[in-house]
Amino acid sequence: MSERTLAIIKPDAVKKNVIGDIIHRYEQAGLKPIAIKMIHLSQSVAEGFYAVHKSRPFFESLCTFMSSGSAVVLVLQGDNAIKKNRELMGATDPAKADAGTIRKVHGTNIEFNAVHGSDSPETAQFEVGYFFPGMELSR
Ligand code: ADP
Ligand code: MG
Repeated sequence: MSERTLAIIKPDAVKKNVIGDIIHRYEQAGLKPIAIKMIHLSQSVAEGFYAVHKSRPFFESLCTFMSSGSAVVLVLQGDNAIKKNRELMGATDPAKADAGTIRKVHGTNIEFNAVHGSDSPETAQFEVGYFFPGMELSR
């Protein structure tokens, strides 16, 4: 079933100049970018995006990291896009990620882990809408 998922190329990966490599991996896996923009998140925009993690000990640090530089925000579309992107990303901690995954290749540690991907249809709907108004998305 064709789905949409929200992906972010995080500031650490942008600083490492691997935007092109990561987008290439999405395309090779059949995840088609249908919306894309580079933005510098403010602290409050990062906090709103990660609101589900508000009570976690890493919340402040995560939002500071996410607003530390430009990020690339994309909507990816394809069959089983949500699960497929999670597999392509690898585990949250790059040290535990499978070989060949984006986080294994480009992540630094459990916080600076190169990419974000929605983890369920519900979060994908919230996250796509958080960054892209419906009128900007192809139908
Ligand atoms: P994922 O991004 O794999 O869905 P989570 O939703 O659990 O992982 O966490 C969101 C983000 O918060 C992670 O991608 C990572 O950047 C950061 N993070 C998660 N766990 C930790 C931790 N223990 N310490 C620091 N940062 C963390
Ligand atoms: Mg998550």
